[in-house]
Amino acid sequence: MTATDIIIAGGGLAGSMAAAMLGRAGYGVTLVDPHEAYPSDFRAEKVDISQAAILRKTGLADGVLRATTADGECWVARMGHVVDRRPTSQFGFLYETFVNAMRAEIPLGVRFINAKVTDISTSADRQRGNSAGRAVHPWQGCRHLAER
Ligand SMILES: Cc1cc2nc3c(=O)[nH]c(=O)nc-3n(C[C@H](O)[C@H](O)[C@H](O)COP(=O)(O)OP(=O)(O)OC[C@H]3O[C@@H](n4cnc5c(N)ncnc54)[C@H](O)[C@@H]3O)c2cc1C
Repeated sequence: MTATDIIIAGGGLAGSMAAAMLGRAGYGVTLVDPHEAYPSDFRAEKVDISQAAILRKTGLADGVLRATTADGECWVARMGHVVDRRPTSQFGFLYETFVNAMRAEIPLGVRFINAKVTDISTSADRQRGNSAGRAVHPWQGCRHLAER
């Protein structure tokens, strides 16, 4: 059994961001996810300027936005002709690149369980999460994942 302050089930964008922020804040964090590196997944191709402003408040934006492409301008085409050019401030990415860049921000003290959470139970003094377990190990750091 692994004792921890906080267990996070799922290391997608939300879970990885929570692990990075809570780990940096000094909590004992355990992140559980069946994938060592977030796998290829077609979705969430951009954040806009308002989302980027929220991301900046987390202190994680510098590293994560480096893995994106800022567009700057959007061309609108109809019937094969460019009819408008609009300034934009969006950051484009492949979802897995973005999540793995977020995972790269997770500090080394965070524990990683490479498994699925199979059930969660609570009581007045103890919360327990079971996993169909594989390895439990300290977060190795995954800066290399941001480059995949
Ligand atoms: C087609 C599409 C396009 C989108 N485009 C945009 C966009 O352009 N901009 C935008 O802001 N949003 C977009 N979204 C929404 C965005 O993708 C989601 O809001 C966001 O990805 C949700 O992140 P998450 O961390 O909650 O979930 P996920 O990233 O799905 O992460 C869930 C994690 O949980 C893990 N997991 C699942 N079950 C278990 C278990 N039992 N135990 C442990 N781990 C588990 C999975 O392995 C995964 O790593 C889009 C969504 C779709 C579907």
